[in-house]
Amino acid sequence: MPTDRDKLLREGSTDVFVCGDTTNIPISKAGSTAHFEADTIIDNLVSLLSEGRWARNYDGKVFCFVETGLSTGTYVWFDYKTPPNPGPPSQMIHWFKLAYNRLYWLSAKGLL
Ligand SMILES: Cc1cc2nc3c(=O)[nH]c(=O)nc-3n(C[C@H](O)[C@H](O)[C@H](O)COP(=O)(O)OP(=O)(O)OC[C@H]3O[C@@H](n4cnc5c(N)ncnc54)[C@H](O)[C@@H]3O)c2cc1C
Repeated sequence: MPTDRDKLLREGSTDVFVCGDTTNIPISKAGSTAHFEADTIIDNLVSLLSEGRWARNYDGKVFCFVETGLSTGTYVWFDYKTPPNPGPPSQMIHWFKLAYNRLYWLSAKGLL
């Protein structure tokens, strides 16, 4: 869907927000992308409804773990201005990613 990359509005619309794989903004299609886009949209919805103003633009932020083997991993983060620059893989990052997966979903369910 044609999407304003800063406001995450459907192009030509003032009240239809777009998030996740369905946008056409020039960044990766990833769960992390949808997560950070949703954060921005929620902040803006709350601010528009309560104060009548935009809270912030989406800056293209994405943070992803990358598994590089059975027991090693690394991560990348990037935004519209900063290209991805993965660090050296390590076993610690792999284990952290496994723990983070569990913590993320416990948090999303409101259990943390
Ligand atoms: C094999 C694979 C591996 C991946 N691995 C990773 C990873 O390791 N890390 C990562 O960050 N991302 C990963 N991704 C990408 C990630 O899954 C997507 O970017 C993310 O799920 C997009 O979220 P979304 O909510 O935009 O879309 P979706 O998760 O696709 O959700 C869209 C939902 O809308 C529903 N739907 C569709 N049409 C209708 C309709 N007409 N009415 C009602 N409901 C409808 C669908 O059933 C679906 O539940 C992976 C994707 C694939 C395919």
